[in-house]
Amino acid sequence: MQFKNIKNQHVLINHLTEIIDAGRISHAQLFLGETQSGSLAMAIAYMQYLCCTNRQHYHEDADHHYHTPDGSPTLLRADSCGTCPSCAKFEALMHSDLHFVFPNITSASRQNEKPSSEDFQAEFMEFLRKYGQYGTLNQWYEELSVENKQGMIREQDAANIVKYISMTTYEAPYKMVVVWCAEKMNISAANELLKTLEEPIGKTLIILVAESTERLLSTIISRTQEVSIPPLQNNTYSHNEVYAPLFVAWMRMLFKLNMARLSEWVDQVAKMGREPQKEFLLYCMESLRECLLRNVTQNTYKPLIDFGDDKFNQSFYAVITPRNISLMNEALNHTLMAIERNASPALAFMALSFKMSSYISKK
Ligand SMILES: [Zn+2]
Repeated sequence: MQFKNIKNQHVLINHLTEIIDAGRISHAQLFLGETQSGSLAMAIAYMQYLCCTNRQHYHEDADHHYHTPDGSPTLLRADSCGTCPSCAKFEALMHSDLHFVFPNITSASRQNEKPSSEDFQAEFMEFLRKYGQYGTLNQWYEELSVENKQGMIREQDAANIVKYISMTTYEAPYKMVVVWCAEKMNISAANELLKTLEEPIGKTLIILVAESTERLLSTIISRTQEVSIPPLQNNTYSHNEVYAPLFVAWMRMLFKLNMARLSEWVDQVAKMGREPQKEFLLYCMESLRECLLRNVTQNTYKPLIDFGDDKFNQSFYAVITPRNISLMNEALNHTLMAIERNASPALAFMALSFKMSSYISKK
């Protein structure tokens, strides 16, 4: 998991990569936040970046916007490369120095007296792949078909953690353990883990991932460095710094169709990746709605979006009317669905540009 695939957490991610670059790695950390805000994905991406042998640091321009080497805008200051031998193993979730511990169950078919996460590794990898590392505990239970059983992290899991960090590393600079849903540790597992946290062995990194501290021992909490994962904001305004310049440049181009400039712009957007493309389209819809509100209220509505360009802020909204916005929204939505269905982004954004250009002059 590269950081770029984690949604809406660039502020925290930039903080984490700075800490890693500075070499300030705590050997026990507690990633605290809702599963769906990406806490597990963040733990894995953190370890991937730590072990990457070719960390990418992006170019920052005078306006503090970051650009990847091919010129695409990004919100991240740095990321793992995704392709070095270490990254490749992380991406495949098959890194020999990375271990997962998670709530598990006793199963009738296995007849194991000492159940542990090791009995369910294949199922867990499948779960991580299926939900893109954003799966919830309930989805994991569904995957296990546990019906009414409650999963737990038990003594054997804690013993396994000691085993993992005592082994010599194969290739990574660290021996790494992710304990997912750490609040599901029973008391004896927690006490066992506590000893490990007190006396770490060699270069180890243990990340506990939990939704809240309520069911964790205070002694465990006090021995870990807490990283709180903010809840996901379901709005597009946080993307303003990257998407606003793209939007302003695009709208200006659409007034006087300059094909050379437009195809450069389309190339730039085509390189961004599908998730950012979809976010950008949503950003366009929000922005146009804001403009319409200003227009129909004779500019008494206070906009939430600042395009970062005074001239554009002061004049563009007057172009958006109830008549053309519905055509534009339809075209943007159509493109959004095309991108979701794996259409060619370059073709989709070029076709969209022609439509938008004709609508923009239709007041
Ligand atoms: Zn790498």
